[in-house]
Amino acid sequence: MVHGYKGVTFQNWAKTYGCCPEMYYQPTSVEEIREVLALARQQNKRVKVVGGGHSPSDIACTDGFMIHMGKMNRVLQVDTEKKQVTVEAGILLADLNPQLDKHGLALSNLGAVSDVTAAGVIGSGTHNTGLKHGILSTQVLDNLDSHLKKSEYFRFLWFPHSENVSVIYQDHTNKPPSSSANWFWDYAVGFYLLEFLLWISTFLPGLVGWINCFFFWLLFARKKESSNLSYKIFTYECRFKQHVQDWAIPRHMDTGVPVCSPTEMPAPGNEACCIWLLPQAHNCTRKDFEKMYPAFPKFCAIREKLDPTGMFLNAYLEKVFY
Ligand SMILES: Cc1cc2nc3c(=O)[nH]c(=O)nc-3n(C[C@H](O)[C@H](O)[C@H](O)COP(=O)(O)OP(=O)(O)OC[C@H]3O[C@@H](n4cnc5c(N)ncnc54)[C@H](O)[C@@H]3O)c2cc1C
Repeated sequence: MVHGYKGVTFQNWAKTYGCCPEMYYQPTSVEEIREVLALARQQNKRVKVVGGGHSPSDIACTDGFMIHMGKMNRVLQVDTEKKQVTVEAGILLADLNPQLDKHGLALSNLGAVSDVTAAGVIGSGTHNTGLKHGILSTQVLDNLDSHLKKSEYFRFLWFPHSENVSVIYQDHTNKPPSSSANWFWDYAVGFYLLEFLLWISTFLPGLVGWINCFFFWLLFARKKESSNLSYKIFTYECRFKQHVQDWAIPRHMDTGVPVCSPTEMPAPGNEACCIWLLPQAHNCTRKDFEKMYPAFPKFCAIREKLDPTGMFLNAYLEKVFY
């Protein structure tokens, strides 16, 4: 019988949302998951699965049963010919990436962090970094189209309240790994000093533009080149706890969005751009989603058919689906 824990507190990575599930389970097999679900059904409890807990909203929160997938983290099968890998849902990309590399494989979609699970990134549609590889990007930068064509993967960081943009081109290479990492610039200046100045700017908001320009000049103004394995290039150590929000806006639209910290624009696409901002999680309701996605009612109908008693709902999902 799978053992459950009481009194566990869950917080997402940014510590912006949390919950106290009634019971917390860490199953090690499909059979154990079945046991937890049977118990939940019997006791009329709701169930939420959590992976790396990196979602910047309360999407993974519940006051019912929480299933943490950390112990189901094996690679089950690798087919190098088909470039197909079967894994357990709870494997962290940080563990999967090196294992894929041993077989000469890599994920073509990589977000910025790797302490996230296979099921988490599939479930939340994690986006990537290029025209050929999926999602969408932006304006703010002149001649976006020509930038997009210059490399296979592309992203840029805009420093709000300034004209400064740091452009990142990424391509396949046979060059040996090289890195320009430096503790003083990356941590002492790029993290501790920047975080301190941003903290001061919460009292003196007028400083934000100055801080952004200063840090752009200090850390991003010069051309740098590095090469490494794809998962070491696309993902990076995200040092700042932050509120995160993704926006997709038409590519040729001027945003006029009031933001203060460097804003990542990953994954250029055809019609829209994606802006990764640092404010609150969304507060869209079913009505808003129906306007944005014409097939949303169909999706809701399928969801209701698969979960007729609402066992897999939580407060976040109720807001989205009802
Ligand atoms: C610093 C930072 C950087 C990020 N960068 C990017 C980026 O570049 N691109 C991008 O697209 N996203 C990015 N994200 C968002 C992140 O990739 C997604 O939120 C992703 O879902 C996190 O995966 P996770 O394993 O932590 O999922 P969780 O947050 O644990 O869960 C996400 C959802 O998946 C469900 N879920 C998890 N495991 C399972 C399972 N086994 N079965 C069923 N449902 C499951 C959960 O119930 C929840 O609804 C970033 C987040 C942070 C904090």
